[in-house]
Amino acid sequence: MNSGQVGSEVLVKGWVRTKRGNKNIVFIALNDGSTILNIQVVVDVALFDENLLKDITTGACIGVTGKLVESQGQGQHIEINATSIELYGKSDAELYPLQKKGHSMEFLRENAHLRFRTNTFGAVFRIRHSMAFAIHKYFNDKGFFYLHTPVITASDAEGAGEMFHVTTLDLHNLPKNDQGSVDFKSDFFGKETNLTVSGQLEGELGAMALGDIYTFGPTFRAENSNTPRHLAEFWMIEPEMAFYDLNDNMDLAEDFVKYLISYALENCKDDLGFLNTMIDKALLERLKFVVENEFVRISYTEAVEILLASGRKWEYQVGWGRDLQAEHERYLVEEHFKRPVILTDYPRDIKAFYMKQNDDGRTVRAMDVLFPGIGEIIGGSQREEDYDKLISRIREMKMPEKDLWWYLDTRRYGSAPHSGFGLGFERLILFITGMSNIRDVIPFPRTPKNAEF
Ligand code: ATP
Ligand code: MN
Repeated sequence: MNSGQVGSEVLVKGWVRTKRGNKNIVFIALNDGSTILNIQVVVDVALFDENLLKDITTGACIGVTGKLVESQGQGQHIEINATSIELYGKSDAELYPLQKKGHSMEFLRENAHLRFRTNTFGAVFRIRHSMAFAIHKYFNDKGFFYLHTPVITASDAEGAGEMFHVTTLDLHNLPKNDQGSVDFKSDFFGKETNLTVSGQLEGELGAMALGDIYTFGPTFRAENSNTPRHLAEFWMIEPEMAFYDLNDNMDLAEDFVKYLISYALENCKDDLGFLNTMIDKALLERLKFVVENEFVRISYTEAVEILLASGRKWEYQVGWGRDLQAEHERYLVEEHFKRPVILTDYPRDIKAFYMKQNDDGRTVRAMDVLFPGIGEIIGGSQREEDYDKLISRIREMKMPEKDLWWYLDTRRYGSAPHSGFGLGFERLILFITGMSNIRDVIPFPRTPKNAEF
């Protein structure tokens, strides 16, 4: 809201949240989006046109000129005594979908074009903004460079095959080569291209010259996982640091997320206070707890032993060599250790080709950071900097060695120990806001069968 001194004349423009009153006096709660707090507008009915006042309904947009006065009522310190009101946009009370309060999250998702106007989504998206800003601030203050890695890429970083194709070929009349498969030579880039699943491989190229870099951009995964923690389009922050080993990497990851949570506690007080009251009563306590306590650091192997000894019945079987599922991650964090956990040294067969191989021949220098209510929030590793080890792993995994020539060049010329990780931005926002579905922390969620807005 425009700030002003009591007694001064102000002009405020915003959207009507509620209107109440009687035939002499009307109170309008007005919100301009800058904060969760509304300003109360007091209207002396006798001074205004009856039809104008009738059109000021929930959702309408108005500009109010008036005097800032100390409030007579409870719940606010100051209010505006309106002297003139301009109606910018009516909002038909019969039709406006958000006329009533207390809609379900599902209903608001179907009305994602309007949900910004609710208190909850206003708070979530202001916090999302603050976190994006804090991320850039954190890295800038540490001397990291923001590197823009491509959205369209010819590489599949994980070899996962869960990518969205990018093409200008006529899908109804695809050119074929002699073997009968699609001939991408006539496609826009002259080769098969996709939307990126990660900026890491390109980020590594930057780190091998600039030292410490980070990426922060959209990533795309065509995995058909309809969970409250997966999106088809999500934002990822991926720092990559020359001369960092796995311990340095873990130290940075822990410091980074603690900084972001502290930043939110310090700078998003009103919005977090609202979410703590309305969405999750344990939110503030949980945020403070994570900032104040050290993360547990154990190996994957130790974690498997804990899970096997737990006596639990799992939906997905636990055993050395199997990937951990959300139920296992959450048991470790929420029940066993009751704090964030960093797991290291995973079996190499369930991790990506670029992770540094341990001397035991069966594990790699991976690290996953696990959070309460979320499961994996960060995935990272020390990278394999040795050319021979890397190339033998690529061959073993039958990866397209030819397509990776540029990546392999970093190991041919001036290779260096280095590490990095990826933080899922929306998973961070889930944790910080206490929201329970990832579709509710990104303005326009893309999930299987859903790209309406
Ligand atoms: P998960 O096992 O939870 O699917 P992952 O192992 O595929 O995650 P990584 O490839 O390591 O994840 O990606 C790094 C980070 O990006 C994850 O720790 C997570 O925070 C985030 N992330 C990964 N996939 C998604 C997704 N589909 N939607 C939102 N965030 C994601
Ligand atoms: Mn995944």
